[in-house]
Amino acid sequence: MASIVSRAKRALLPWIAAGVTVLAPATGHAAPSQTFLRDLGQVVGQMLASYSREAGAPLQVLTFDTGDATVRGFLRATSNHSADELLAMQAYDQMKVARAVGGVSESIELPTCVIFYDSSRSDLLDGYVRSGAFDYVEALHYLAAHEFGHCMEWHQSRRGAGSTFRDVRASERLADLVALTYFATNGNWSGATRILDLNAKVSSAKPGDPHSNVSELRAALEQLQATPKRRGAMPSTMFGVYQVAADLQRRISSNLKD
Ligand SMILES: [Zn+2]
Repeated sequence: MASIVSRAKRALLPWIAAGVTVLAPATGHAAPSQTFLRDLGQVVGQMLASYSREAGAPLQVLTFDTGDATVRGFLRATSNHSADELLAMQAYDQMKVARAVGGVSESIELPTCVIFYDSSRSDLLDGYVRSGAFDYVEALHYLAAHEFGHCMEWHQSRRGAGSTFRDVRASERLADLVALTYFATNGNWSGATRILDLNAKVSSAKPGDPHSNVSELRAALEQLQATPKRRGAMPSTMFGVYQVAADLQRRISSNLKD
């Protein structure tokens, strides 16, 4: 038992945690969308487990397939979110879930982030993987960290620890800062640089788009690179990643104008 406890205490980030069974397709190839949805659920589940160690309040995260007509109907009925987005996060203050505990069915309500992905379309993965921007595992972790970043922002702000979603641009920037910090924390500096490259493409193609934040992301990457390489200098859980990203967001927005 002791070894299990000490392993859990190390609180490794999902990327390097034991038990990641994502099977990466060959470089330059996207996995089928159904595979991506399953892998996304698994990686986000690990991010949630890491975050929940320190988050201070319960949270659940679900992944739904908007390629399914029933799910699309649910999304239209419960939110003003477009069901046509390829990947989106919608937060619900309380969602009732029934679960079986020790053979007994019980029903509880939990704050919930639902990540919607349309597995009937391949555009998203085509954009991230076939373009060569990322390999499959990186695209998976980038998209998971970005969407889970939105979820953590919502979850922390509903607990009174920040503002949320009033400023779409600030939210998109924070979600990318979470992804950037997550890559840096995992030691994938080349992947972190490619997050910048990707954002630079968005910024030059659609300058006013809320996802285009390349100058802020560049400043953040420089600050992350300047972090001392000693043990404990970088965060070791998703909550820690969120705190570093939120701190970068505060520091950068006071230095740079939009
Ligand atoms: Zn986003």
